[in-house]
Amino acid sequence: MIFGKDEERYEKIKLRVAEALKRDVGRGIVRFDRKFQKQLGVEPGDIVELIGDRTTAAIVANPHPDDRGLDIIRMDGYIRRNAGVSIGDYVTVAKAEVQEAKKVTLAPAQKGVFIQIPGDMVKQNLLGRPVMKGDLIVASSRGETYYGGSPFDELLRGLFETMPLGFGELKFVVVSTSPKGVVQITYNTEVEVLPQAVEVREEAIPEVTYEDIGGLSDAIQKIREMVELPLKHPELFERLGIEPPKGVLLYGPPGTGKTLLAKAVANEANAHFIAINGPEIMSKFYGESEERLREIFKEAEENAPSIIFIDEIDAIAPKREEVVGEVEKRVVSQLLTLMDGLKGRGKVIVIAATNRPDALDPALRRPGRFDREIEVGVPDKKGRKEILQIHTRGMPLEPDYDKETVLRVLKELLKRKAFDEEVLKKLMKRVEGARSDDEVKEILKSASEVYPEVRTRLIEGMLERIAEKTHGFVGADLAALAREAAMVVLRRLINEGKISPEHEKIPPEVLQELRVRKADFYEALKM
Ligand code: ADP
Repeated sequence: MIFGKDEERYEKIKLRVAEALKRDVGRGIVRFDRKFQKQLGVEPGDIVELIGDRTTAAIVANPHPDDRGLDIIRMDGYIRRNAGVSIGDYVTVAKAEVQEAKKVTLAPAQKGVFIQIPGDMVKQNLLGRPVMKGDLIVASSRGETYYGGSPFDELLRGLFETMPLGFGELKFVVVSTSPKGVVQITYNTEVEVLPQAVEVREEAIPEVTYEDIGGLSDAIQKIREMVELPLKHPELFERLGIEPPKGVLLYGPPGTGKTLLAKAVANEANAHFIAINGPEIMSKFYGESEERLREIFKEAEENAPSIIFIDEIDAIAPKREEVVGEVEKRVVSQLLTLMDGLKGRGKVIVIAATNRPDALDPALRRPGRFDREIEVGVPDKKGRKEILQIHTRGMPLEPDYDKETVLRVLKELLKRKAFDEEVLKKLMKRVEGARSDDEVKEILKSASEVYPEVRTRLIEGMLERIAEKTHGFVGADLAALAREAAMVVLRRLINEGKISPEHEKIPPEVLQELRVRKADFYEALKM
């Protein structure tokens, strides 16, 4: 297909959607093979239009080396949502016609969230970003490029009160743009931030995507085959004459991501999600548990495709020998009846979670019931690093600019021929002569094309060290650790008298100091 004006005629191509690299989430970038970039007439830094059920735009970044020769395009959950596609779908990609944004109006994506941030501060985080009306975007406070752009006062105040995750990832919906179409946010753009969510489109905003889950790529692949595929394409199973699964059992220790996994698959499959909790159904609805189960299954069928998630299923359906109560027996048989009676093949799937798979009533695990299992285990070092990456996404991390490490990184870049040889060699010389970490940092900063890459690698190294030190930690522990490290920073500033809950406004210099270092994580580990 050809489009464009006059001699500027480029193709549109279709590429298969793949998930983003963890560190790319929220950055508004896509990665795909150089060959297709050429075909489209774009280079890294250019903007492409992505057309699925919706249309959006994104910045082209360097292809991932492993993707060479593949017809895939990597993008995060926000871009997928904005383009109306999910992983594995084909998306049409074309060079975008971009105009400079005169004005962009944003509103918080979540209802009930009230924020007051000057548009200019948000703009700092979004410079260069292409947006379209209706897009969901995230302004994160991560990274040096966003220097000076992270003072999310409101969020900080929130930290004192509720200690939410990290320092801040704020999600916004683009309410309107002037001019219309794909526009790029620049220094000249006026960014207005409305204090409250407004109705732009009725669709649900993805809350959990596969990129929010670390260290579980096998489990993700399995759940996609077992749950996402039948929910999205029941016809495949019909045609093959096989039964799609009705029930999938996730088992593993608490806090490893079973609930996350169920939520993510529901999101990616665009399925209605109903979560119930074993103990709750037994106690809160005492005497009405069966009735409640029937209602849930009815709701699921009416809103199909649906996922019913039953957390701690062992509370409802323990092994019969462990059961004394008549109630449990009745609830189990009601659950089995409901599952056996599920119509509309593959349109409703029940996902159950337990950390004691052996304690389950074997009747539940017969064919046609929970006959598939996925282990969600304790993460290894690589998994822990991924999880840390996820939970520090919105955090202003600061690596150590330790001379040896920096030199090692530069050497590697040299080997990889990632940058101009002369530039790198000169830089190494200067770094060698540096007398302090701060000086190393200043030297690196002066090489503005190399600096972000080095910084990213140093941050990766920092997370790797922390991953090494957290053997046995599950996802929930690592999330807590990240929060705690942020609190270490806050507490220090409070002790130094630089911030206090009484302060009306946190001074910008102090906000600049809000950086979380490796030492803060180590400190948090001691507690
Ligand atoms: P489970 O259902 O296995 O008990 P959850 O999915 O409820 O565990 O995890 C609790 C929290 O811990 C999550 O909301 C998330 O913040 C964090 N978490 C757990 N596992 C992971 C993981 N694999 N990747 C990222 N975060 C995780």
